[in-house]
Amino acid sequence: MKALVFATHNSHKASEINNLLGGLYEIRELDAIGITEDIPENGDTLEANARQKARYVYDRTGLDVFADDTGLEVEALGGRPGVYTARYAGEECDSVKNMKKLLAELEGQSNRKARFRTVICLISGGVEHLFEGVVNGTITTSFSGTEGFGYDPIFMPDGENRTFAEMPLSEKNKISHRGLAVAKLVNFLQNK
Ligand code: IMP
Repeated sequence: MKALVFATHNSHKASEINNLLGGLYEIRELDAIGITEDIPENGDTLEANARQKARYVYDRTGLDVFADDTGLEVEALGGRPGVYTARYAGEECDSVKNMKKLLAELEGQSNRKARFRTVICLISGGVEHLFEGVVNGTITTSFSGTEGFGYDPIFMPDGENRTFAEMPLSEKNKISHRGLAVAKLVNFLQNK
């Protein structure tokens, strides 16, 4: 079976992908191919970061690889935090601090439109392919729900009256940015 590297150190993300693509590819995480360091991501777009991570692995191993990058883009903030979503309130990833900072920045703001966007960069046979998944929604005014991670308790997708953190993962995956981007990747690989 052909190997496909997922450029992540997050085993949870890797096992999700393994469930979807395990029959087609042998999915390998970075640690399994001897890349133990954090891959630099210092681009100023999600596309640049996804490319940078995939390219880092491809240049060192020549293996087919994909990498993802996700950002929360808030309309009233001109698309911020965007590439800085994980470290919005500081270098360490503290979701509660991030959400509190966002709610404070949006205090009194009537335009609460936001979207999550995931970009996946696949390098297969040396050729780059990009896949994008977007979910539009609004930032609520307080936290609701305990499922999920990151900004889920304050993000309500359009057409819903629950935040992502109030939905079971299986429901979130069907409409989420990452779910949609991964579905495009899987469709591409299955039809290759
Ligand atoms: P990453 O590129 O997947 O690491 O995502 C960057 C940051 O975006 C994460 O650290 C989270 O703060 C946030 N994020 C990504 N996906 C989600 C999601 O599905 N729900 C809530 N927050 C998310």
